[in-house]
Amino acid sequence: MIYFALIAHDGKKDDMVAWVNANRSRLEDEALVATHTTGTLIETHTGLNVTKMLSGPLGGDLQIGALIATSQIKAVVFLRDPLTPHPHEPDISALMKVCDTHNIPLATNIATANLLIAQLT
Ligand code: PGA
Repeated sequence: MIYFALIAHDGKKDDMVAWVNANRSRLEDEALVATHTTGTLIETHTGLNVTKMLSGPLGGDLQIGALIATSQIKAVVFLRDPLTPHPHEPDISALMKVCDTHNIPLATNIATANLLIAQLT
């Protein structure tokens, strides 16, 4: 299974739900994976099925990083909140690093997510 990964920090979760809804026709044919809270919100508000990892602060970012390292992720939309400190900052850096190591597209804001989804799906 090759997944499309979705992660949003708390301050960006509404933006993520709105983005998924706006791109629903493209995303409904994808296998989606997300950190736990993000995935639960997407399922609740869009009706799409999402495979859920642990919550980000509990290791979910690292789980998605491991999927990237084992070639099970085609792209990542990670709506980071750059204005809020996060206790799992090392995990966030590791996730971005593994995207770069494996040349996996990583969008960290809506503008780039729009470019990514237009090209990828
Ligand atoms: P969450 O994790 O979807 O479980 O909130 C996201 C994060 O903070 O990395």
